[in-house]
Amino acid sequence: MNDMTLPLDTAQLQALDRKHHFHPFSDNKALGQEGARVITRAEGVYLEDSDGNRILDGMAGLWCVNIGYGRKELADVAYRQMQELPYYNSFFKTSHPPAIALAEKLVEVTPAHLNHVFFTGSGSESNDTVLRMVRRYWDLQGKPGKKTIISRQNAYHGSTVAGASLGGMKPMHAHGDLPIPGIVHIQQPYWFGEGGDQSPEEFGLQAAKALEDKILELGEDKVAAFIAEPIQGAGGVIVPPSTYWPAVKEILARYDILLIADEVICGFGRTGEWFGSQYYDLKPDLMPIAKGLSSGYLPIGGVMVGDRVADVLLEKGGDFNHGYTYSGHPVAAAVALENIRILQDENIVETVKAETAPYLQKRWKELADHPLVGEARGVGMVGAIELVADKAARTRFDDQGTTGTLCRDFCFKNGLVMRAVGDTMIISPPLVINHAEIDELIEKAVRCLDLTFEAVR
Ligand code: PLP
Repeated sequence: MNDMTLPLDTAQLQALDRKHHFHPFSDNKALGQEGARVITRAEGVYLEDSDGNRILDGMAGLWCVNIGYGRKELADVAYRQMQELPYYNSFFKTSHPPAIALAEKLVEVTPAHLNHVFFTGSGSESNDTVLRMVRRYWDLQGKPGKKTIISRQNAYHGSTVAGASLGGMKPMHAHGDLPIPGIVHIQQPYWFGEGGDQSPEEFGLQAAKALEDKILELGEDKVAAFIAEPIQGAGGVIVPPSTYWPAVKEILARYDILLIADEVICGFGRTGEWFGSQYYDLKPDLMPIAKGLSSGYLPIGGVMVGDRVADVLLEKGGDFNHGYTYSGHPVAAAVALENIRILQDENIVETVKAETAPYLQKRWKELADHPLVGEARGVGMVGAIELVADKAARTRFDDQGTTGTLCRDFCFKNGLVMRAVGDTMIISPPLVINHAEIDELIEKAVRCLDLTFEAVR
């Protein structure tokens, strides 16, 4: 079978998938028995599966389809660019118009001190790039001892060796003997899970202090950078307490340590600002981006490089011995540029901030009244709810993850994609979701919480 345009039914597609497709982040043996869910098309905020079911995509794919599905303009741009120049690279002092234009546009839409971009093919490649950039920076500054990067437990920064090492997920570290040397992890600012009896504000300061303690333990002359998402996404939409980022900023400044703000999820409007760094008033030295950069229509990522680092790497660095075949890929760059044009021309980020995000957050937080929900939180177009055994005592279920998986499966059967991180249910819908679709998302979420509650009590 080599023609996927032939009409195949779900069972046939699943049988072929089972035979040859090794899936990421899946138990492939169990998947073989259950059969994959096969998505065949999508429009706006809705997916359609191979049985013709319509599903509201509460996760925008993997947090990426910011402008929604089915935007023909992006397909047209890709078609034209493929005819004009389908591929050329940006190694060895060459360039091409789409990469040049996208670099200029990115400098326009990102914070003012970020005036250069290094292109990659993904968020993981972006984080591999930052690891090399920060170490090269300190070498060139005559401080080669400043090598260690501090990250946070339960962080997600990608799946390559450096990306997964920068991430703080133990199950990922267990595959491949990670992290690589020179990366350490401190406490995450996860008040609901780890805050105990402290107020969120007290706990935010404690989590920030963990950074200072680690710097003092290692010695500031050994620490190169701190990497963090403004809001931790894949870890479970961890919105830091209000005290966290101001204290972290102060600590980084005190010990002269670079800030890497991983904006792979938060970037391009997710928080209601163009970048999460603007939401929290951060001034990152390096800012990895991907996902919403092209709304996921083609793979592309990058690292926005702040002036402090760029001045050194570009002026004193000579060759930077790093790059990817697809760095600044012309078709992906042209599509990303068109995606940003749509975000700008249709005021999508401004609409999120002023209208749809406040509505989503208001409705989302109503879920806190459900007997299964211990907390409902969110910012902009991301949200999380914590499923608990005992609401008043904030007690979790003993078999962590079982209830979340149950809820996620009810959601899918009832036409909603919600993701489960253990027993934390999370959403990150396309930014173009409207009020009626938000109502539908909430109604379906309530129904699935009811079904889950019935099943576990
Ligand atoms: N950084 C963050 C914060 C992410 O959420 C992700 C992916 O989910 C990555 C990096 C890795 O991006 P990619 O999957 O494009 O390699």
